[in-house]
Amino acid sequence: MSEDFYDILGVSQDASEDEIEEAYREAVRNYHPDVSDDPDAEEKFKKAKKAKEVLTDEEKRRQYDQMGHERFSEAEKRGGVGGGRRQGGDPFGGGGGVNDVQDIFDQFFGGGGSQSRSRPQSGQDLKTTFEIDLETAYHGAEKEVTINRPETCDDCDGRGHPPGTDSRACPRCDGQGQVTQVQQTAFGRMQQRSTCRRCGGEGTLYDETCSTCRGDGVVRNEATLQAEIPPGIRNGQTLRMDGEGAPGDRGARNGDLLVEISVADHPDFERNGDDLKTRQPISFPQAVFGDTIEVETFDGTVEFDLEAGTQSGETFRLKGKGMPRLRRRGQGDLYVQVQVVTPDTLNEEQREALEAYAEAGGEDVEVDRGFFDRLKNSF
Ligand SMILES: [Zn+2]
Ligand SMILES: [Zn+2]
Repeated sequence: MSEDFYDILGVSQDASEDEIEEAYREAVRNYHPDVSDDPDAEEKFKKAKKAKEVLTDEEKRRQYDQMGHERFSEAEKRGGVGGGRRQGGDPFGGGGGVNDVQDIFDQFFGGGGSQSRSRPQSGQDLKTTFEIDLETAYHGAEKEVTINRPETCDDCDGRGHPPGTDSRACPRCDGQGQVTQVQQTAFGRMQQRSTCRRCGGEGTLYDETCSTCRGDGVVRNEATLQAEIPPGIRNGQTLRMDGEGAPGDRGARNGDLLVEISVADHPDFERNGDDLKTRQPISFPQAVFGDTIEVETFDGTVEFDLEAGTQSGETFRLKGKGMPRLRRRGQGDLYVQVQVVTPDTLNEEQREALEAYAEAGGEDVEVDRGFFDRLKNSF
């Protein structure tokens, strides 16, 4: 992807401001990390945002057109580019992570509608993984999930200073939260506004800092939550727990907690979607004569009529005995593969019967008596 701002937005050099705004809205729709599967979405989004910021600012656009992309970026890094908005060190950083992106997203999709950067931001989503066994995935369960997460500091209610602390307007920014610097550069006098470092943009200084959170307003706590695991959940699926993520700024909503469910392999059952597969050992006489056999499921044993003349390796389907379908009615099927077990020990009577069986079928089997004797003794 070209770094040129016009290329990034896919507009021509003489595009109107409206065309640029429209191209930018398009980029928001395509690359917002909440809607895009593109792994580079956030990066592309930031670039589009940067491109739009420059190209919709008349003064900056004029400088950009004059200097070209590289020189402009260099000049900007040194703080030598004018314009209405604050400048960061990184030409594409824009000072923000996902929350910053969320701000812009909200402007187009009805989350806020305000251009203000000081609007309180909602908390980050947090992620954790939780392992369950297949039987739990079958029945569903309420499980305790423990996470270590940032929470609003109780002692100061998230303000960062104890209640009733004396305060005064920040002398550095005159209580404005922003400072304006005027610089003499090769391109003339440039004005630059930036967030006041003394007060962090709040415009107010407090005489005391909350000792519990050291002024952050946030502390890390271990939290134990009840997660409702629905029957039929699959490996890798995610449960979203509303409002259980990181706290939002100054009363804005919390992020969510995303719990990725990992379903452990089971020794007896193999899962394929909503179907299950299991192996069932049967004896040679059962295979020959047929029998009613009992098959284990997660809901107890079910009986199954084996036909006479069943071959080893044959698979039977028990309809509706598989996994529950997630948030739907019904269950998948259980496939039972029978395996005829060849005995490796025989008592005297069994050996004679089997020899007689072979003889009756016209088979001339050389029986090594020592083989069975040795086996007998070893048990
Ligand atoms: Zn200040
Ligand atoms: Zn505190």
